[in-house]
Amino acid sequence: MAPQTASLLNGKALAQKIQLELKASIEQLQPKIGRPPGLAVIMVGDDPASAVYVRNKERACAKVGIASFGRHLPHQSSQQEVESIIKELNQDERVDGILVQLPLPAHLDTVSLLLAIAPDKDADGLHPMNLGRLVRGEKGLRSCTPAGVMNLLEEYQIEVAGKHAVVVGRSILVGKPLALMLLEKNATVTIAHSRTPDLGAMTRQGDIIIAAVGKPLLITGEMVKPGAVAVDVGINRIIRPDGASQLVGDFHFDSVAEVANYITPVPGGVGPMTVAMLLQNTVLSYGQQV
Ligand code: NAD
Repeated sequence: MAPQTASLLNGKALAQKIQLELKASIEQLQPKIGRPPGLAVIMVGDDPASAVYVRNKERACAKVGIASFGRHLPHQSSQQEVESIIKELNQDERVDGILVQLPLPAHLDTVSLLLAIAPDKDADGLHPMNLGRLVRGEKGLRSCTPAGVMNLLEEYQIEVAGKHAVVVGRSILVGKPLALMLLEKNATVTIAHSRTPDLGAMTRQGDIIIAAVGKPLLITGEMVKPGAVAVDVGINRIIRPDGASQLVGDFHFDSVAEVANYITPVPGGVGPMTVAMLLQNTVLSYGQQV
C-alpha cells in the first residue's frame, strides 16, 4: 500500500484550544454577569449513544466553567411534559443554552420541540429562526457540526472562496446548513445525496469533499481528486474481521489519505469540534448579557 500523504485536520487539538479560549473569556465575563454560563441538555429515554454524547457535553461544560442544568426524562414522557420543561428553561435566567438531544423517541414531535426553544438560547442552532438567519446570511447561532467543520477549515487556512465544495448528505442537521455556510464563504457548492446516480463522478470534482452520510467507507480514494481536502462527518461503528468494534467515518481512510492533501481522522476530527461549537454558542448567548 502506498503511504499516507494527507495531513491530518486535528479536530481534537483545535477543540481543546477553543475550550481554553472559552474558559478565559468566561473568567473575564463572570464578574460582570455575576454567574457562570449555563447549558441545559434535555435527554428523553435511554439511548446508549445519546447517553455517551450527553455525558461528553456535560464533562466539556465542567472543564470550561459552564454550569449544567441537564434534564433526563423517561422514554414515555409526553410532548407536553417535554415542552413545559423547555418553557421553564426558556425563563430560567441561569440558563443561556438549551439543547434537546436527538434522536427523540418516535412518539415525540421533534420539530415542534425545537420550535419551543427560545431562539436566543438555541445552543444547537437548529431552531427555524436560526436556520433562517443562516439562509439569509445574517448573524445568529449556527448549527454546531457544520460550524465545527468551517472552523476546522479556517484553522488550517484552507481557502474556501472560489473552490468547488462537494457536500455528500442533505440532512437539516449537517448537509444543508453546511452547504449554506460554504456558500456564505464563496465556495461553489454541490450537494450529493442518496439519489445522486454517480457519486464518484461528483466527488471527483470536489476541491473540498465533506461526507455526512453515515455509511462506513462509502467514499474511496479513487472517488477523490488528488490534492483534495476530505472532511469526514460520518460516525459509524463497525465490527472488524477479528471481532473487535471500531469507529470509522464515511471515507475509506487509508485509500483517501493516499490522494488527498488533508483529511480528518475518525474519531478525533469533526466530533470534538461539534462539542466545542456547542460550548461556544452557549458562551456567545451568555456574552449577550453584558
Ligand atoms: P441523515 O441520515 O439524516 O442523513 C444522511 C444523508 O446521507 C441523507 O441526506 C442521504 O440523502 C445521504 N445519503 C444516504 N445514502 C447515500 C449514498 N449512498 N450516497 C450519497 N448520499 C447518501 O444523517 P445525519 O444526521 O446528517 O448524519 C450523517 C452522519 O454524520 C452520521 O454518521 C452521523 O452519525 C454523523 N454525525 C456526526 C456528527 C459529529 O459530531 N461528528 C454530528 C452529526 C452527525
